Amino acid sequence: MIEYKHWGEVPEHLKSKTSLSKEGFKPNEIRAKVYQRKGRVWIDLYDINEAIPKKKATPKQLAALEKAREKAMESRTCEVCFYVESYQTIEFYNGKRLCRSCYEYEQIKTIIEDARSIFLSWKENDFIIIDTETTGLSLWDEIIEISCLDSKGNLLYDTLVKPTIPIPSDATEIHGITNEDVSSAPTWEKVWKEIEPLLISKKILIYNKDFDISKISHCCSLYNLDLPILDSDCVMQTYADYVGSTRWMSLSNAVGYYIGHRAKNDSYATLELIQRVWDEINDIRGNGDGNV
Ligand SMILES: [Zn+2]
Repeated sequence: MIEYKHWGEVPEHLKSKTSLSKEGFKPNEIRAKVYQRKGRVWIDLYDINEAIPKKKATPKQLAALEKAREKAMESRTCEVCFYVESYQTIEFYNGKRLCRSCYEYEQIKTIIEDARSIFLSWKENDFIIIDTETTGLSLWDEIIEISCLDSKGNLLYDTLVKPTIPIPSDATEIHGITNEDVSSAPTWEKVWKEIEPLLISKKILIYNKDFDISKISHCCSLYNLDLPILDSDCVMQTYADYVGSTRWMSLSNAVGYYIGHRAKNDSYATLELIQRVWDEINDIRGNGDGNV
């Protein structure tokens, strides 16, 4: 291999890869090297007479390039609003490619639709609404009042319950039930034995289900009663979904007037809220274009 000490010695027909490329050739075999002081490197040299001419891209190749670019663009474009997203944030929903905001919108629409179906499913079968008042909000707090209402609005059960712990004054401030009020009331053991048969194989609806169910379980465990398996739905969650809210709201806020926290009143208000949603769904159906 010939080695030249500097560019001045290199004959015309020997070229570097870069200068070959500029002249429209691809290199073949290395024929010599030249030392480049700047950078202190040896540069490979090729004979231009042996070099291979670069082919120009055919129209077909150019079209393929254009097509690849279009495809890449398409895979980033929202099918609903045609917004172009980055590859990372494009989402698939029901087989459609969606931008971030269209995706969120579709999700919210689905949640509202699902909540509507749940409200309608309640209409098809009898249910029982339960509400309780308690000594407080913590794990060990107990039920001091329980009310059961059927789907026709008949009050099936409504009683005070004598807890094993005293009612703190801050709880009394909320619902107005005093220790004196419950002093002669039946215990949970007696109450539950009468209520449980009413609930068997019925759909139970509760505004803030998790709270009431946890209170029922706690009170049953105090008396070594079997923990009930109830088929229950939460009206608070379903209502929040139905109105497209990510926040839960109090029953008073949902019905739009102050209720006052007694089990019976809360049960009736829950039924009223459910009936209102049914009415609204009916109105939409009645005035709609038949798609609903
Ligand atoms: Zn979009």
